[in-house]
Amino acid sequence: MLLEQVLTRLRSMVRGDVRSSEPMSRHTSFRVGGPADLYVRPADLPSLVAALDILAGAGLPVLVVGLGTNLLVRDGGIRGAVVSTALLGGWHLEGDRLVARCGSALSGLARATARAGWSGLEFAAGIPGTLGGAVAMNAGAHGACLADVLERVTVLGDSGPLTLGRDEAGFAYRDSRVRREKLVVTEAVLRLRPTSPAQAEERIRQVLRVRAESQPRGVPSAGSFFRNPPRMAAGALIEQAGCKGMRVGGAEVSPVHANFLVNRGGASARDVLTLAARVRERVAERFGIWLEPEVEVVGEDPS
Ligand SMILES: Cc1cc2nc3c(=O)[nH]c(=O)nc-3n(C[C@H](O)[C@H](O)[C@H](O)COP(=O)(O)OP(=O)(O)OC[C@H]3O[C@@H](n4cnc5c(N)ncnc54)[C@H](O)[C@@H]3O)c2cc1C
Repeated sequence: MLLEQVLTRLRSMVRGDVRSSEPMSRHTSFRVGGPADLYVRPADLPSLVAALDILAGAGLPVLVVGLGTNLLVRDGGIRGAVVSTALLGGWHLEGDRLVARCGSALSGLARATARAGWSGLEFAAGIPGTLGGAVAMNAGAHGACLADVLERVTVLGDSGPLTLGRDEAGFAYRDSRVRREKLVVTEAVLRLRPTSPAQAEERIRQVLRVRAESQPRGVPSAGSFFRNPPRMAAGALIEQAGCKGMRVGGAEVSPVHANFLVNRGGASARDVLTLAARVRERVAERFGIWLEPEVEVVGEDPS
């Protein structure tokens, strides 16, 4: 099927946003990235299912994303379709369980559950992105991660919806079965502990204070660029290798936090990747450690 035909089908069957040749720089926190052939943001779950069916039927590659806060899209963009769950929010509490849709903002869930007197998600205050992205990435901070609170997750696989318990979700450091097997998270159930709103909100203030003091603010990035090697902090290695403030084009190693590569304005993916390669080489020369990216690099170089 031609892209034009797929676009027409999507527009008639999917509620939400359906675009073609959509610059991914508009949909990533790095503000970098070439166009996706098709960009779909379904407004409800049936529309998500319909969009995935249409795209699978057309044989197009599909990348499911949330808010694009852990993505670096190359300058040539993405062939096939990007489907964002950003409009699929909504949550409720059932006793000590939080039932939330994949597109819910993680940080908002942390604040709302704290306000309601539930503890467990405070670590996630200030982590941008959606719940679906956080499950896929096993997002974490301050010694806690999503796997600590997840009870079960509903995913769409090749043969329809499936519920995975925590042990079946294959969590590892910033990784999960969802990510490895490219499953699509639609909903997750998190188990929380009762506390006083005052305590949970104080914990959130602490978490946000630490972030404000240690991370660059108001400048586009995708958070920590490299994964921490076992028992080491990538940021400390990069700083000790003398990389803070290094620049390539519009990309810079943040002078505030060395593991944040930031877009100082007008950075291309090529700038970011060239800078990342130089950082890796310097760290390897100095410490003999080869850093691996935590940010997902997707898409194509320009032809
Ligand atoms: C300033 C800043 C600070 C950050 N701090 C932290 C931090 O402290 N800790 C941390 O862990 N991360 C951090 N991040 C990275 C990022 O916010 C997290 O990885 C986040 O969980 C990604 O969510 P997202 O919705 O933006 O996912 P995206 O970036 O859109 O996608 C990331 C991955 O998740 C997959 N995915 C997204 N949604 C779904 C879904 N519904 N079903 C299946 N797969 C899906 C995508 O395919 C992709 O593989 C930070 C980023 C920024 C910009």
